Amino acid sequence: MLTVLAALSCRSVSKEKVVPTFDGDRAMKYLEAQVAFGPRVPGSASAERCREYLAAFCRELGGEIDTMQFFHADKHTGKNIEMVNLIARFSGEAGPEGERILLAAHYDSRPRAELDPDSSKQNLPIDGANDGASGVAVLMELANLIAVQKPRVNIDLVFLDGEDFGMSGDLSDYFLGAKEMTRRGIKGKYRCAVVVDMVGDRDLRVYRENFSEQYFPELNDKIWETAHTIGETTFSDTVGYFVHDDHLSFMTVGLPSVVVIDFAYQYWHTSHDTPDKCSAASLASVGRVMAHFIYNL
Ligand SMILES: [Zn+2]
Repeated sequence: MLTVLAALSCRSVSKEKVVPTFDGDRAMKYLEAQVAFGPRVPGSASAERCREYLAAFCRELGGEIDTMQFFHADKHTGKNIEMVNLIARFSGEAGPEGERILLAAHYDSRPRAELDPDSSKQNLPIDGANDGASGVAVLMELANLIAVQKPRVNIDLVFLDGEDFGMSGDLSDYFLGAKEMTRRGIKGKYRCAVVVDMVGDRDLRVYRENFSEQYFPELNDKIWETAHTIGETTFSDTVGYFVHDDHLSFMTVGLPSVVVIDFAYQYWHTSHDTPDKCSAASLASVGRVMAHFIYNL
């Protein structure tokens, strides 16, 4: 029996690459740090400070920083709002001409809590601890891993602005950063794109998102197989919701793109989307899957 176990464990070790440890507690601190800037509403001073924090963080770890500024005419206020995507490029062992992947999360938080049970709060911006900051926190901790051990592939960590700007029911003012990035040209630049959003929920359950599953099932398979291989039981093979998110913009040019998201979050678009509803364990669960995914490409 011992011999059999040893043989099995050897086989799994040789198949899976050695991957640096994803630190969920550290990721949780990154989530809290973002929330501490205040709501990262596009065009606000808080958004700018958070962006500078992210840029300094990634630069320190060896990322090459690029910003993509654009303006969005807000049809509800008539204001022209500055938005900025932040791109941190990390080189892998494949070399500059080698394969590159895109990992994205939105760093903006929603300007209004329209689903808040207290109607007096529905026009106030949200903290976006889970809806926004959780995905960014996972990317930040992945940057720590990449800095200590290069994966084979080159990786662009992209912090998108204006994901959650629109009025519910009108998709034209959502995903603005991803749309801008797609418009400026991503075709042929990347092997694939993975968006992480709403991955901090204490009660984490990550279903396969339905658009991702319909258009790029092989990429979804690769991520969920990774989760099974390393024993992350928070990832369920069930196909869940259709979620409109930044991945849909990347899909429009044929780039294999999926979103990793737990959309069943009772504090969604309310003033209660705060760090206490999130956990280090949930961030670590998704972070470990993403780490094993990128180191095995
Ligand atoms: Zn949202």
